[in-house]
This record gives sequence, structure tokens and C-alpha cells, in this order.
Amino acid sequence: MKTDIKSLTYEQLNNAVLELGLPKFRTKQIFNWLHFHAVTSFDDMTNISKELKEKLKENFFISHCDIEDKYVSEIDSTVKYLFKLWDGEYIESVVMKYKYGYTICVSSQVGCKMGCKFCASTLAGFKRNLTAGEIESQIHSAQKDLGVRISHIVMMGIGEPLDNFDNVIDFLENVNSPDGLNISMRSITISTCGIVDKIYELMDLGLQLTLTISLHASNNEIRSKTMPVNDKYPIEQVLKACRDYSKKTGRRISFEYTLIKGVNDRECDALELAGRLKGMLCHVNLIPVNDVEERGNVRGSRESIEKFCAVLKNNSINATIRRTLGADINASCGQLRYKKKRGDAVEDCC
Ligand code: SAH
Repeated sequence: MKTDIKSLTYEQLNNAVLELGLPKFRTKQIFNWLHFHAVTSFDDMTNISKELKEKLKENFFISHCDIEDKYVSEIDSTVKYLFKLWDGEYIESVVMKYKYGYTICVSSQVGCKMGCKFCASTLAGFKRNLTAGEIESQIHSAQKDLGVRISHIVMMGIGEPLDNFDNVIDFLENVNSPDGLNISMRSITISTCGIVDKIYELMDLGLQLTLTISLHASNNEIRSKTMPVNDKYPIEQVLKACRDYSKKTGRRISFEYTLIKGVNDRECDALELAGRLKGMLCHVNLIPVNDVEERGNVRGSRESIEKFCAVLKNNSINATIRRTLGADINASCGQLRYKKKRGDAVEDCC
């Protein structure tokens, strides 16, 4: 079995280089070709001898993902990709343009095990973890296709990043490397549904990234109805982990709260939420639910969403309503993969 060379960290690559009997300076060269230039063939490594290329080919392959479908929003130029992997599986990524540059939302798994009731990512079932190289390849493919440099990463695509912990950490190390994409930790966000043990593991690494928690409810009764993970890690445990995380890393915690009409969007829900978050260094991102066809969740009126936000602010909680990007291309992840698996005709493709 050949090894995916793009999934190796710098240190692992260095060990592999030494094992092949090569001089150390080759590590930097090869790492740079893989992670900065994003080559998909060893033949493109122009400062590497033919003999060495053959050696690398004998031992390794380079992971990549191919563009299967691409959708461009006519409203705000958000781009959504459906990528095909070597084994025929599909994942999704979204590139958004902001004033400060381009942000990519990447997938961390093929499917998801978490089973959140409002989300499209679990509809087509869980298949496997993505390797570090496959997570990074989403950025490489999008950058090449768009001809731009992506400066920010959010891990909010298909999958639960903390359920693929080791590969995600290797991916972070590689994109952060000055010999690779050199994306600063402060420009990276990891979103989790609240796997408490892993939040502590992440905390111990002391990375300066932004941790986002998909909270979506202010108590266990409501949260367990929509998020099965809450049965294992109740809201009190999740919020305690957040307070500890914030204290230890000095980083502000971000909470995602998807507003679903009649489920979690009443004034009493906002008040309960404010009480739970009191005194924590945090920010609440309110997301009007994206009505995924198969899920049947209804979005409340703009007025009710603004009122929810105002109640939080009046109780000293930082809160904003998320701007919807790519509304015309179903930019929230999971839907394209599901449709592809079902064999639906794909419309609006460019
Ligand atoms: N598993 C991780 C990463 C997925 S992030 C997590 O749960 O955080 C995707 C974000 O979009 C999560 O906050 C998720 O709860 C939210 N989301 C999923 N489906 C949605 C929908 N239909 N409408 C609005 N937000 C949704």
C-alpha cells in the first residue's frame, strides 16, 4: 500500500525522506511542492531529479479532489463545489468572498454520524473520515479553479471535525506551515456539535484558532430533540468545557444558534440562553434556518429573528444575525452529496 504523501506532517515527511536515504533539504522542497504549489503529480516537481521522482512514486501517491459540479451564486459570487474523491465518494466545499479576502468552508468527513435533525449532512449516511491531504486538497482545487488565494478556513462543511481529530490536527499543522499555504491559526475556525472530550484535547494543544459550538438550543430538552449528541454531552458539560477553553486559550468562543420557528426561537429561549452564557467571553451567531427540503424546518420572520437578537444584546450577550450567502445555490453543505447519491438530476450547474 502506498502512503498519501500530502497527509504527512513536515516531521513525518522528514522521517520518510531520511528513511529513503535522502538528504534533509529534500523535505522542504517536497513539502513546498505539495502544500504551496499543490502539485498533483511528482513529475511537476521540477527541481527534483528523475531518479528521486521514481523513488517517490514507488512509495507514495498524492491525494487530490476533482471538481464534479460547480455552482456560482448570481447574488453574491459565492461558489459551491461538489468534489469527487478517488473512491467515488463526494464532498462539498463553499468559497465566500468577504472584504478581507476569500474564506473556504471545508468538509472533514464523507457524511456525518452526529444525526442533527435539521442538517443535510447526515442524510446520505456516514462513509469515512477524510485524510489530512483530502481536507487540504479542497483548498488547493478551489484556489486553482478560481485563481485566487484563500486566506481563511472554516471547518463547517460536511462532517464533525472533532470526530476526525487526528487528521484534522495534521491538516491544521500543514496549512499553517510557512512552507505550505501559511494560513494563520487566527484565520481558522473549527465548528463542533460539542464533543466535550475532544474540546479538552484541542484546548491542551493551545492553538490560536476560533472554536465554534453548534449550540442551537438553550436547554437539554430542546437540544436533545434536534441534536442526539446532547444525550452523551449535555449542555452543562458543553458550556463548562467552553468556559475552560476560553480561560486557558484566551480565545473568544463562538456559538452557532440556528433559529427554527416554534422550536427554539421564543423570547424565553433567548432569555435562558443569555443566562447560560452570562460572563463568558463569547459571541452568538444567529442563523435563520436553511429549509432543507427533506427536513421540513421553518424559518421565522425577520422580525422574530431580530427580536431574539435584541433580547440577547439587552442581556449583555454579543450577538449578530448571520448574513445569508449563496442563498440561490443551496450553499449549506450536505445537500449536493445527498442528491448525487440519490441520483437526482442536478440543476443550475455551470
Ligand atoms: N459538525 C460540525 C460542523 C458542521 S458546521 C458542527 O456541528 O458544528 C455546519 C453548521 O451549520 C452547524 O452549526 C450546523 O448546526 C449548521 N446547520 C446545519 N444545517 C443547517 C440548516 N439547515 N440551517 C442552518 N444551519 C444549519
